[in-house]
Amino acid sequence: MAFFEMTKTAIKTLLSTPATILYPAQPAKKTPLSRGHVTIDESRCISCGTCQRKCPSQAIVISKEAKTWQIDRLRCVVCNSCVDTCPVKCLFMDTQYSSPVIARSVELIAITYVKPAKPEKKDEASA
Ligand code: SF4
Ligand code: SF4
Repeated sequence: MAFFEMTKTAIKTLLSTPATILYPAQPAKKTPLSRGHVTIDESRCISCGTCQRKCPSQAIVISKEAKTWQIDRLRCVVCNSCVDTCPVKCLFMDTQYSSPVIARSVELIAITYVKPAKPEKKDEASA
């Protein structure tokens, strides 16, 4: 019985079109739930560190001193936690094709944020 089931499956597979596509030559099928990869708008990051604290796989490292945001793509499990919790919404998921990561490499991005100067306190005596 199992033999006939297996033969039926083999013939069905031989006669059907491939289940895979020639990505990226052919565009991938995207759904509203497609995630992609984490991307940052470095000009808006305020180096608060929330994404680093919320990342379950320690893929993100932020350095306030060096003004850098870095991500280890082989650690990222695409959970979306960093995107959901970033207070200024400068992280997002990009579903465009990017080259595959084939070796451990850390992407280092310089943050251009400059902390706004505190408004000067008015001298109460002169008021
Ligand atoms: S998507 Fe998840 S695993 Fe990937 S960097 Fe963000 S928080 Fe970390
Ligand atoms: S990317 Fe967002 S959550 Fe992460 S340090 Fe920058 S502002 Fe904070």
